[in-house]
Amino acid sequence: MARAKSEESRLAWALVRCALYGYCSDKVVEEHGDLLDALSELQTSFPDKPAEWFYRATYRLLAGKVERVGSEHWLVKGLAELGDTYPWYNVWVHEGRYRCDCFFRAYGYVRKARICTHIATVMLHRRQLRLRAE
Ligand SMILES: [Zn+2]
Repeated sequence: MARAKSEESRLAWALVRCALYGYCSDKVVEEHGDLLDALSELQTSFPDKPAEWFYRATYRLLAGKVERVGSEHWLVKGLAELGDTYPWYNVWVHEGRYRCDCFFRAYGYVRKARICTHIATVMLHRRQLRLRAE
């Protein structure tokens, strides 16, 4: 498995520690306030998710990419260091629920039971955009 990019990985953990546990440095708060607020919102919506889930979504935003390709359709870049085997994942809204095509790919049965971090990345991305616009 490829190694995580260390700078993005460190920053992603710093953001998660700050948003979830309140251990914040001034620099992180000053430079990434909108992302921190988006993470706090996401944690309020999903209080039972482990820190790792928030870390992976944050790392995907920092080291990867999210592209909106339809009104309720996004592409999330696959990251080998997070175990992804495809270059891009489709995330879309169907009947009011997020779906991801990793559900239908290898090990889909493992991921189907929970909200995958591709979906978490889109949720985080959308919250960040909304907070920036406010
Ligand atoms: Zn997925």
